[in-house]
Amino acid sequence: MVLNPVISKLAGKLVVLASASPRRQDILRNAGLRFEVVPSWFKETLDKGLFKAPHEYAVETAKQKALEVARRMPFKHRKTPDMVIGADTIVTIDGLILEKPTDKDDAYRMLSRLSGKEHSVFTGVAIVLCHEKEDDGIDYQLIDFYEETKVKFANLSEDLLWEYINSGEPMDKAGGYGIQALGGMLVEYVHGDFLNVVGFPLNHFCKQLGLIYNGLPSSDRNSANLGSYNQDTNTVIPQDLSSSPSASPFASKVKRNGGQMDVSESSNQVTNSLSKHSGDSQERLSLQNIASRGRSVSVGENTVPNKGDLQRIITLMDGFKASKALFTASKMGVFDLLQKSPGLDAVQVAAEIKASLKGTRSLLEACVSLGLLTSEKSHQKPLYKNSTLAAQFLGSDSPFSLHSYILHTDNMVWPLFSHLENAVREGTNQHEQAFSKEAQDLFQDTYYDSQALKLRFMNAMHSIAKVTGKAVATAFDLSTYKLACDLGGCTGAIAHELTKANPQMSVIVFDLPAVVEIRERFQPQHMDTDNRVSFIAGDFFKDDLPEADLYILARILHDWSDEKVHFLLKKIAERCTPGCGVLLSEIFLNEDRTGPSRGLLQALSMSPGRQRSAQEYSSLLERHGFTVKDIKYTDNLLDAMLCVKV
Ligand code: SAM
Repeated sequence: MVLNPVISKLAGKLVVLASASPRRQDILRNAGLRFEVVPSWFKETLDKGLFKAPHEYAVETAKQKALEVARRMPFKHRKTPDMVIGADTIVTIDGLILEKPTDKDDAYRMLSRLSGKEHSVFTGVAIVLCHEKEDDGIDYQLIDFYEETKVKFANLSEDLLWEYINSGEPMDKAGGYGIQALGGMLVEYVHGDFLNVVGFPLNHFCKQLGLIYNGLPSSDRNSANLGSYNQDTNTVIPQDLSSSPSASPFASKVKRNGGQMDVSESSNQVTNSLSKHSGDSQERLSLQNIASRGRSVSVGENTVPNKGDLQRIITLMDGFKASKALFTASKMGVFDLLQKSPGLDAVQVAAEIKASLKGTRSLLEACVSLGLLTSEKSHQKPLYKNSTLAAQFLGSDSPFSLHSYILHTDNMVWPLFSHLENAVREGTNQHEQAFSKEAQDLFQDTYYDSQALKLRFMNAMHSIAKVTGKAVATAFDLSTYKLACDLGGCTGAIAHELTKANPQMSVIVFDLPAVVEIRERFQPQHMDTDNRVSFIAGDFFKDDLPEADLYILARILHDWSDEKVHFLLKKIAERCTPGCGVLLSEIFLNEDRTGPSRGLLQALSMSPGRQRSAQEYSSLLERHGFTVKDIKYTDNLLDAMLCVKV
């Protein structure tokens, strides 16, 4: 049933919810809205200190989430949505913003702070409307608003608190509680929209849709400030609302500019008639000092920098410090130590990792600020524990341990990037400068001369493959393939995921002799795959390839030039009969090479290989008689493409 007639205006449009929250999905679905879910990749790391009021933070986060998805979809999903909805819910008390707790202790801190008091729940919502233009560009219109609801908690006893925390409910919820379930028993009263506390202010959202699709009264329209972005001249041209072709009276037009949006913070409060506790704003371009129609402008002295933009630059500037703090804490065994002995103080950690107290304390504090550790005061001393993030990814025995990959990045990638200026000037890799060895000699060391180097490399590959392997193995229906060959399959991590996902399939891992020689160290102990993974040693450029009906190329082709790739694909094609497949897994660049930055940053190492888009990979494969059957952007670290020999 459609509760609000305005929702029917969205029938037939591609509406996307940029949120993985099942509660938001339920609220919108129950209202009769049909939509796709594309969770945003925007990291919720805006500096809260930069915002004057808590709701500004929620609105900015909602905007960034929605814009990230609106920008990504035309490239990654090959379709342009009509509308992207982003939302962010926060709980605030005593001027503090509470988001999702990092672990049980964090949940305890949050809930005891809320006990017996009234707090506010804000949900910031951003609606991005996308309009495809004739010149292939896209106009983005951004409307945002927020809703505030007051909630009072009863006095909570320790027993009740812990019973609730141990139920597991608090962990993925802002403020550490879910009002719609067990958390409801903690609440004395609610003033305002209940659904806003659950995660989405449906009533306010429907009113906004009404404004968008039915129009504002003309007096309100005149208060809107629009501009269109001229890509050719890099200028903003003010636009008269009454002449705007857009359906939306809120419209400000933002043109895609090299993958970045020229969207600023909203600063214009529009008629606040909807609710006492709510605000609406329309997005304005940051270049506000536009003197007259049609005149080119530049950022003037009076332009206020957008807080989100400023934060992005600062985060980039400090990014290398954060990376190195992560590398150092991993290398010095901080996460392993705190996994084994949680709740140590700085003196104990310093003694265990054999480091100075001053340095250890700084490292621990930095890790807390990065969300890698938590600290809790006891007798005036902070005691440190791994955050849930660290427990999942950073210990050597963590379920998705990236420990070895982090050490590899520190040992092999960091030194290369220290010589980035040289690499850019010369267009060559910097192995000689970074390691006093040519790349070729380093390869010889890694594979043949140094067992330690070889193990380190294989550990790194194994750890990242264990994290990404399942998404690759399950990206497509492979039920028709019986025998796969994973070329450069290293330790067999992806092969095991393939056999787990496909009971009919056996997989041959084909890799260099030096790698196959020590495969035993990496074989899972209790893997129910009936020995369907086997290994063959060989060089895929020199030796015959094993016979198979599916060839896997995971993180192989980006290492090689087009010439080498053609050589390898020709060999594979010669082995294939019609119907045989190639499963390719790489980071696929956007077709206009504007992202993702993980792929583009990797290219800066100036290896002989090349980062490519899905289209570029498919052209290479088509030259050898393969046709693309499906492409999956896995939302994991690797994308995937399934091709079939015709
Ligand atoms: N496919 C694995 C994955 O996605 O985790 C490993 C990728 S790793 C970047 C590249 C792999 O290709 C290594 O295991 C390496 O030993 C293997 N390799 C490199 N050159 C090779 C060659 N000429 N023949 C066979 N394997 C090779």
